[in-house]
Amino acid sequence: MGGGQLGRMFVHAAQAMGYFTAVLDPDEASPAGRVSHHHVRTGYLDPQGLDALARVSAAITTEFENVPAEALARLARTRPVAPGADAVAIAQDRAREKAHFVRCGARCAPHAVIETPQQLAAVPAALLPGVLKTARLGYDGKGQVRVRDAAGLAAAWESLQRVPCVLEQLLPLAAECSVVLARGRDGQVVHLPVQRNLHRDGILAVTEVHDAVLPPDTATAAVAAARDIAAGMGYVGVLCVEFFLLQDGSFVVNEMAPRPHNSGHYSIDACDVSQFDLQVRALAGLPLVQPRQHSPAFMLNLLGDLWLRQGDTQREPDWAALLALPGMHLHLYGKVEARRGRKMGHLTVTAPTVAAARERALQAAALLGIEPF
Ligand code: ATP
Ligand code: MG
Repeated sequence: MGGGQLGRMFVHAAQAMGYFTAVLDPDEASPAGRVSHHHVRTGYLDPQGLDALARVSAAITTEFENVPAEALARLARTRPVAPGADAVAIAQDRAREKAHFVRCGARCAPHAVIETPQQLAAVPAALLPGVLKTARLGYDGKGQVRVRDAAGLAAAWESLQRVPCVLEQLLPLAAECSVVLARGRDGQVVHLPVQRNLHRDGILAVTEVHDAVLPPDTATAAVAAARDIAAGMGYVGVLCVEFFLLQDGSFVVNEMAPRPHNSGHYSIDACDVSQFDLQVRALAGLPLVQPRQHSPAFMLNLLGDLWLRQGDTQREPDWAALLALPGMHLHLYGKVEARRGRKMGHLTVTAPTVAAARERALQAAALLGIEPF
């Protein structure tokens, strides 16, 4: 379900193992639809489209977080679906997601749900300054407004058309990290190493993964929290949990994605089992094994801005110059039109040592016009 780049990389992994694939996505030119054996071009709730997908599929997964949970529930009447509609419904709604984290004993940012003017008026002053986030349909920092005081909060809720929101206290972040895990139907869990993420303008810019990204105790605690969150909803499939590391050394859970995640893309080139291999295995009921990272890695997102460096005329970056450097793994998603902030591809840089990987990643960034990190 869903034809974006995550679906495309899932399709690649599934096809490498000999599977035939089918993608449901309304867009003719969707990145995954273009490379799949079957492409059902309908809306996510179209009963005929869903039935057509089920007819050619032995099992169904999702790459798009906002696939309506009803669609997954319908498919689950006749086919195994992982992750299940209930888990996806929790991840789709920030208020339910936060409640789930609390239920699982994971610490999250102090917050309040705002659905009514009464709830708006009752917001404790301690939550300000804060970030007001729409409960549903946010991604890449969209649907978020930073607010300083009560008046700013009221104006921000107005600007978001008074849809249900969650207000979070603005936290003093030292860093951000994420954990990608896979959980099988039998409850077995494996995970990728903990990733350290740098966001710019609310969009993931750089992920780095090696032994020194986090103190070992923090990494272990983050993995344990992610496992509890998955187990707490009987999760089956690949799950990503994002964390904020605070300046006092503690961490809180930010949010989760019921699918592979941008911060796990490095696993294709730097691990012996990628997050997409894990998604295939979990869906097919095959054994899950703990991935082993064989190279330190830096992943740089390639946003449409890199295609639009000369005003609005679209120009392809100089891939030949980039690929002349050692350790470059270029992934492009087959999107024809570049737009600012649009994820067009990513680059994973690997090297035998962390220092060499960082140096080459910085060289690559300079060559492409990405700010140093
Ligand atoms: P994604 O693309 O990961 O789905 P999103 O739009 O759902 O992103 P969040 O992960 O909630 O958004 O926030 C985006 C970024 O904004 C975070 O990675 C972090 O850098 C910053 N941010 C969000 N909430 C807070 C907070 N409470 N305190 C400080 N910074 C925050
Ligand atoms: Mg996020």
